[in-house]
Amino acid sequence: MRAEVIAIGSELTSGQKLDTNSQWLSQRLGELGVDVRFHTTLADDLGQNVDVLRIARSRAQLVIVSGGLGPTQDDLTREALATMADVPLIEDEASLSALTAFFERRNRVMPPRNRVQALLPEGATPLPNRSGTAPGIWLESVGTVFAALPGVPGEMKTMFDEQLVPRLQGTERLGPVRVHRVINLFGRGESDFEAEALDLTARGREPEVGITASDATISFRITAEAADSQAALDATEPTARLIYERFGEWIVGEGDVDVVEALIQELEMHQATLAVAESCTGGMVAQRLTDHPGVSRVFLGGVVCYANQAKIDLLGLPPAVLAEHGAVSSEVAEAIAAGARDRFGATLGLGITGVAGPDGGTPEKPVGLVYLGLATRHGVEHRRLLLGADQSRPVIRSRAAKHAMNWARVVLNSEVRGHGPAVSR
Ligand code: ATP
Ligand code: MG
Repeated sequence: MRAEVIAIGSELTSGQKLDTNSQWLSQRLGELGVDVRFHTTLADDLGQNVDVLRIARSRAQLVIVSGGLGPTQDDLTREALATMADVPLIEDEASLSALTAFFERRNRVMPPRNRVQALLPEGATPLPNRSGTAPGIWLESVGTVFAALPGVPGEMKTMFDEQLVPRLQGTERLGPVRVHRVINLFGRGESDFEAEALDLTARGREPEVGITASDATISFRITAEAADSQAALDATEPTARLIYERFGEWIVGEGDVDVVEALIQELEMHQATLAVAESCTGGMVAQRLTDHPGVSRVFLGGVVCYANQAKIDLLGLPPAVLAEHGAVSSEVAEAIAAGARDRFGATLGLGITGVAGPDGGTPEKPVGLVYLGLATRHGVEHRRLLLGADQSRPVIRSRAAKHAMNWARVVLNSEVRGHGPAVSR
């Protein structure tokens, strides 16, 4: 079944709000075996709404609309559906009493305007709305099913799951179930991975494999179809195995597991603790770690040692080292990493110092030059990153933080692979 997702709202087309409903709907529809081919976003305009609905009817068998079901003048979905289907709007009694009851439960008198929310195109079925006032609408027109849902994301999701899914399953028009399995990699560029994966990403391959990049994490997305989700998942397995064999050393995890989540998992597995000394990243590592509840088991804390004096006073950086090598140097990265490990009594100490730009670069120390230091009980090491003089400050800082966390993850991970419990303090 071919589908179109339509998002209505001038706040969406003007860029004030991001259309997250279409993304969510398409993911869910994909899982249900519905092939979403079109996304249309349009402003609150009756004539254009009708046009868009007509076009959708001509090219899709299922059309999901979100937004424009409210009681205000600019909520036009009801009217547009009726015009498109060439039927009148009539008041639906069940919807009207549900609406009245909604206001009574809240001890409020229903504003007269809300009464329009009980209007439905003739022949349509209301979709009850538990969490808001506007009922959704199910309407068939010339062989195409239209489902209109409220714009408020929470209401839209509840109504989709509770009202729409059972109805769609009832139509027996759903195709095979489609699953996506996402394997995340970090440490090389998208094109480097792609060059070694041309056989996997070839068009027409079954299952299909795509590559996407987000904040320097590269993801392989395997899409497989089968009669049920377990069978579809099984169908991804041989391809996933190929990816693990070929790119194992770069893989951080699957699904929502990116570098941060993987680092936390490694720390927990080793019962190791981490402390950080952040100069150019100004606390980004600490922030990303503490986004995760419960991380205090493995993350002890950090120092934002932005000024030179802070590196000396708070982390014991010898002034002579600073004077000789400068703040952005392997020596300083190592010294602040060791300082963090020491002061916090952590298993691992991570230090980050670099030139985030846009100013401050020199031929020897260009913008994008970052030194990482990692202190373990074996001693201190450093790494030199060149993140690109043409990159923006936010990108350089973000990449530096991510590379630092990934390095700690890799070091912990390699401990499992044969060097024994060497990270214990
Ligand atoms: P209501 O009964 O609340 O008026 P509605 O169906 O008329 O519901 P809208 O008025 O279009 O919906 O939107 C309600 C809220 O939901 C607004 O805050 C709007 O920005 C948000 N919203 C609408 N459409 C989307 C969308 N596609 N993605 C994300 N948010 C959306
Ligand atoms: Mg509205």
